Amino acid sequence: MSFSSLGLNAELLRAVADAGYSEPSPIQAKAIPACLEGRDVLAAAQTGTGKTAGFTLPILQRLSANHYDRNRPVRALILTPTRELAAQIGESVDKYGKYLNPRLKSDVVYGGVKINPQMMRLRGGVDILVACPGRLLDLVGQNAVKLDRVETLVLDEADRMLDMGFMRDVRKILNLLPKKRQNLLFSATFSKEIRELTSTLLSDPVSIDVAPRNTAAETVSQSVYKADKKVKPALLIHLIKQHNWRQVLVFTATKHMANRVTQHLQKADITAAAIHGNKSQGARTSALAGFKSGEIEVLVATDVAARGIDIAHLPNVINFELPNTPADYVHRIGRTGRAGASGQAVSLVAPDERDQLRQIERLISKSIKVAEAEGFDPNAGHAEMADSRAGTPPPRGNRNGGPRRDSRSADAGDKPARRRRPRSRSAGRSE
Ligand code: AMP
Repeated sequence: MSFSSLGLNAELLRAVADAGYSEPSPIQAKAIPACLEGRDVLAAAQTGTGKTAGFTLPILQRLSANHYDRNRPVRALILTPTRELAAQIGESVDKYGKYLNPRLKSDVVYGGVKINPQMMRLRGGVDILVACPGRLLDLVGQNAVKLDRVETLVLDEADRMLDMGFMRDVRKILNLLPKKRQNLLFSATFSKEIRELTSTLLSDPVSIDVAPRNTAAETVSQSVYKADKKVKPALLIHLIKQHNWRQVLVFTATKHMANRVTQHLQKADITAAAIHGNKSQGARTSALAGFKSGEIEVLVATDVAARGIDIAHLPNVINFELPNTPADYVHRIGRTGRAGASGQAVSLVAPDERDQLRQIERLISKSIKVAEAEGFDPNAGHAEMADSRAGTPPPRGNRNGGPRRDSRSADAGDKPARRRRPRSRSAGRSE
């Protein structure tokens, strides 16, 4: 199967070739022809399946084929739950549309930043608008944008929008759109509410199911380490160092815990940053950029903040704490093992999380193997917590009493070395 057999035009094929994609992913192979035909699409697909190109490419083709209005009314509206995701979709639209002539105009709008510059930008009109629902409604309220000429609507990560409380806003937006339009809905999981939404929104949709719902990606190897809460930070550090993991996404249940875990990692000379809703947009963007470039080895995130992270082939996901809902576990581990690459998901499970673990195992219909941390001394873990609580950084190197793993660190002098471990793998894992 090649991209050229999907009916895409030469300009788009050239951009796809520039992106280095040799063949369409399964979702692209199904979604692109259906979208080009103008059909509604219902896709069960997680981030990492290539779904963004799956809807962006046909939208670009359809819009560029039609005669367009000088005023550039919004003709494609892409709704998405987080600003990171919105920004990434915006980048994809630019990337895939760069050879179209004339070019289509696109913009990205989300909350948490000033509205005025967005209003100014929208004045000239845009063909494709990527938006988070709340800010879009604000802009509509200010008359900065009209939605009455939308031809294609995309609801990306519909389940997340529901979880994040955006469904009311989404419904309000739906009422502002022309009745006759194409609808594309993407969701990783299908709760009752999402099924209700799809049945009212979509008409005779083409259904695509590339990652069967609520099924953990098969390429992801999953394991559980039993650990008391107090030893978790030391165990996390031990596992990262022992396995020499370089690009690790760690999930915590709260923003506070994300900050604490980040501090523990930093004290152990592991470059780490926290990403969550209390961080400014600038801090989130720079943490993500550092993580993508390999400069930051560990990103510690809450579920909501992590949702928009687009990294190709993220090798390791660690659940420092299990999520509250089993579906979130599926979302989390879906961040690894992407596009056929293998990945691993590790969960640190305290005695009071056993119930959550059982629910997860029920959802994914298998039991997750329990692993032992080789060479880990839980008592040294307590020392770690005690040290950090007292504010006294323990000696650098291996805190568990063993020999230092990297002799280079001995030469580091007073300045903490940013990169203490030899880098054996390439850092270029991001797009
Ligand atoms: P998405 O699921 O849209 O977030 O895309 C996941 C990642 O896969 C992105 O980094 C894309 O650049 C990449 N990607 C999309 N389509 C392909 C393809 N056909 N071949 C290889 N990588 C792809």
